[in-house]
Amino acid sequence: MTTTPTPPTRSTRTRTTTSGPLTTGTEPTPRGAPAPGPTTPSHPLAQLWVRYREYRTRVLLAFVLSTVRKVMDVMPELLIGAAIDVVVRGSDSFVAGLLGVSDRRDQLVWLAVINAVVWVLESTFDYLAALTWRNLAQQVEHDLRLEVYAHVQGLDMAWHESRATGTTLAVVNDDVNQLERFLDTGVDKLWALALNIVLVGAVFAASSWTLTLLAFLPIPVIVVGSMWFQRRLQPRYALVRTAVSRISGLLSANLGGMATIKSFTAEGRELERVRAVSEDYRVANAEAIRASAAFVPLIRMAILAGFTTTLLLGGWMTLDGRLEVGLYSVLVFMTQRLLWPLTSVGEVLDLYQRAMASVRRILALLDERPLTLPGSHEPAAVSGRLELRGVSAGYAEGPAVLHELSMLVPAGEVHAVVGPTGAGKSTLLRLLLRFADPREGQVTLDGTDLRDLTWEGLRGRLGYVAQDAFLFEGSVADNVAYGRPDASREEVVRAAEQAQAAEFVDRMPDGYDTHVGERGVTLSGGQRQRLALARAILRDPAVLILDEATSAVDNETEAAIQRSLEEVSRGRTTVMVAHRLSTVRHADRIWVLDRGRFVDAGTHDELTARPGPYADLWAVQTGVPSGTGVA
Ligand code: ADP
Repeated sequence: MTTTPTPPTRSTRTRTTTSGPLTTGTEPTPRGAPAPGPTTPSHPLAQLWVRYREYRTRVLLAFVLSTVRKVMDVMPELLIGAAIDVVVRGSDSFVAGLLGVSDRRDQLVWLAVINAVVWVLESTFDYLAALTWRNLAQQVEHDLRLEVYAHVQGLDMAWHESRATGTTLAVVNDDVNQLERFLDTGVDKLWALALNIVLVGAVFAASSWTLTLLAFLPIPVIVVGSMWFQRRLQPRYALVRTAVSRISGLLSANLGGMATIKSFTAEGRELERVRAVSEDYRVANAEAIRASAAFVPLIRMAILAGFTTTLLLGGWMTLDGRLEVGLYSVLVFMTQRLLWPLTSVGEVLDLYQRAMASVRRILALLDERPLTLPGSHEPAAVSGRLELRGVSAGYAEGPAVLHELSMLVPAGEVHAVVGPTGAGKSTLLRLLLRFADPREGQVTLDGTDLRDLTWEGLRGRLGYVAQDAFLFEGSVADNVAYGRPDASREEVVRAAEQAQAAEFVDRMPDGYDTHVGERGVTLSGGQRQRLALARAILRDPAVLILDEATSAVDNETEAAIQRSLEEVSRGRTTVMVAHRLSTVRHADRIWVLDRGRFVDAGTHDELTARPGPYADLWAVQTGVPSGTGVA
């Protein structure tokens, strides 16, 4: 499939849609990360907060637990200061004043008791906080993954076709994990750092304003430095995430196309391609690491300045009698407390930036909107009359591919669409399945516009056999019963018989219980197609839509497929796109499509009896000169 370039007039649209869907002619919803409106917060975390109300209580609880733990965490330093105070000042100490105990030994016993309580509380809250954050992280990861997957399932086929599977996989998997990692420990750490500054700041402020100012002097340096690093890190992590999805995209494409790679002995070349994208990833990461690693030394310098100031000035003040010895020791310990944890700011910011890059990608994906939305009508019964009225269609903003097609398939008839490659046959099938909507005109089922039907009302009435019949991981029976998991074994067997699949299934080692693997690799193309046919007819659909496999099958298989088609299309509206004219000879009507227009229509006999494109095609495929009327 080709990608049609976006005309400059629509260049404000993001790239995501350009190879995308058949459009209705109306302006589709813009895709990609939308420009935040006045009511939409632009920060990813704010968006998450607005979006996921159900987690708010737990997030707040986690913050409360973290806060209590942090307060307990700062206490030992205060207790050390109090102990020194007891030793130095005796009955004038802070503890004596607070508890009314004058004996130093008793005061120390009290301090030991308080200390023990603090430690128990700290451990308890440490446990509770970790438990809450980590469970929250797991829950968010689980819910978000399901939400993203459900959302992706709801997007248009055109959207899926325009993106490498691996790219979407990277968002559903890696990006969601990245957020989990941040929630697991990152938020907690970030909060602890902020609290540290506040708590230690309060102790300092209560002791000496001069010292507070001096000890806190490095903090603006650290904050400005952090912001500078953040700005530099952000685009790098965005690049890292893009590189991840490119690797993922390439890997999944290559693993899926292994047969082609091997048959062309392109292993070396593919390895090179993987090496190139993996190298991009390494380089992108290396740059991010270089920026984030430079962060810690910067913070250390700032810490040194703050620590030296407190040590020296505080010491002088104590010698001058302007500061208590106990308080002096508290402040020296506190500077350590205050500043050292800031060295981990780099690490936490790292986690934070990676997570935000991921959240942006997740939100951008969740903002993608399908263009084809279901209607609300669900008819009780459907006879299967299909009609196209003046239908034009095309891809994205590209030129029309189908031009004013009108076609009537009365209920129960078998119609075929034939024509050269690129005529628009697959595009037509996409309209019938409503993988996309026409730009002009209408497609109707029993007179109802497809756009008015619910998905069940439309697709529930259709049986679709794709050209490349996809078999799911599981047994033959599972695959046949895919559309009706409650079907009995008898029904499965009957469907397989109708599709002429029963015979080869019986020859398989475990019959209907044979495992057919992720892509049914153990089956031939013709066998896969007959299983897909059995799957379609088990649903007993009113309309059967068949995209005939282009791959050459042997005569015997072709005859089997032919027989099965005759059997299953009896009394059922059937539209088939055929590449081999021999399969459509018995159709009630054959539509000849050429460059997006119907150029002829009729039965096989009528069409071969008169000169025209069908007769020419027939002549090419059978070797019988055209115009002879031989059928
Ligand atoms: P057929 O099935 O008869 O071989 P198609 O319906 O696949 O033909 O293609 C009809 C035309 O639409 C071709 O010109 C093709 O290039 C174009 N086309 C098909 N798929 C896409 C797509 N995803 N984006 C843009 N153009 C497309």
